Amino acid sequence: MGSRAKQDAEFLCMGIEGTAEKLGVGIVSDSGEILVNRVKHMKLAEGIHPSEAAQHHAAHLPSLVRQALEEAGLEMRELSLIAFSRGPGLGPCLRVAAVAARTLALKHRLPLLGVNHCVAHIEIGRLTTGAEDPLTVYVSGGNTQVTAFAKGRYRVFGETIDIALGNCIDQFARELGLGMPGGPAVEKLAKKGSYLPLPYVVKGMDLSYSGLLTAALRLAEKESLADVCFSLQETAFAMLVEVAERALVQAEKREVLLAGGVGVNVRLQEMLGEMCSEQGAELLVPPAEVLGDNGAMIAWLGVLSYLAGARQRLEETQVRQRWRTDEVDVLWR
Ligand code: AMP
Ligand code: MG
Repeated sequence: MGSRAKQDAEFLCMGIEGTAEKLGVGIVSDSGEILVNRVKHMKLAEGIHPSEAAQHHAAHLPSLVRQALEEAGLEMRELSLIAFSRGPGLGPCLRVAAVAARTLALKHRLPLLGVNHCVAHIEIGRLTTGAEDPLTVYVSGGNTQVTAFAKGRYRVFGETIDIALGNCIDQFARELGLGMPGGPAVEKLAKKGSYLPLPYVVKGMDLSYSGLLTAALRLAEKESLADVCFSLQETAFAMLVEVAERALVQAEKREVLLAGGVGVNVRLQEMLGEMCSEQGAELLVPPAEVLGDNGAMIAWLGVLSYLAGARQRLEETQVRQRWRTDEVDVLWR
């Protein structure tokens, strides 16, 4: 990354991410070079209030765009496309990113594409790890999904039926005053813990984390925090690995790609890695900067979509709060 002159005929896309509490601006070229990837984390004392997060994004977007251009040594007129995450996500946050992207596109006469946030996680993972045709395990604060490419779309093999894995860990940590986001604190405490039984809920190929959260909070009233953190991680991750293993076999894939902020968890990587070696598959973990929400992933999906022929008129760029991964036609594969 860093400043360099734009090359002739190079196609450069600016991606704007703002589905939840993180705001991201990234610029990626058609060769897959990430020129810049700036993320601004909103400070959270508790859960995410959508309107406060939207205010945060509105306040910081102009300077983040400016910083990204400066870092890349580019001017707006050198860009070829603006992409933004159209959904799924929190309505007020999505609308701020969408309005900013539309404004930039109109002002600088650039084409505009609203892209799917979950598909962007998959594609930046493929770009940065070289995974060709993976089963993707996407685990974040707002999403928990196991997907694989089949017949023109990323099909959902399993997903949470209530709260996301990251949300389960965050709510647990918040209730116990461990700070936000909760993942790093829980992972650290878990290192010194040992196992206590907690409800393990897999329904068909789907996962349920809300009962586990309640049970873990109850257990924390009488047991050591380290033991509960360890047991929460072991149970939640084992459920996910079980679903991923069955999906891997069903979808006949040879690669497992991690995506989403929970993916930095070393214990989760270990558990998935063990399953992969038993199945003769390879686990691929993208660098931390692109695991969590970021603008480069939106820019890269913008590049892929646009060069595959996707076009949107301004009035076709409304946000979609509940846009499912398997509703997107994957034109570039
Ligand atoms: P994302 O929504 O993809 O940006 O990821 C944010 C989520 O990742 C939050 O729920 C965090 O608690 C979670 N997270 C971050 N670091 C860790 C970690 N070390 N272990 C587990 N979860 C984590
Ligand atoms: Mg995400």
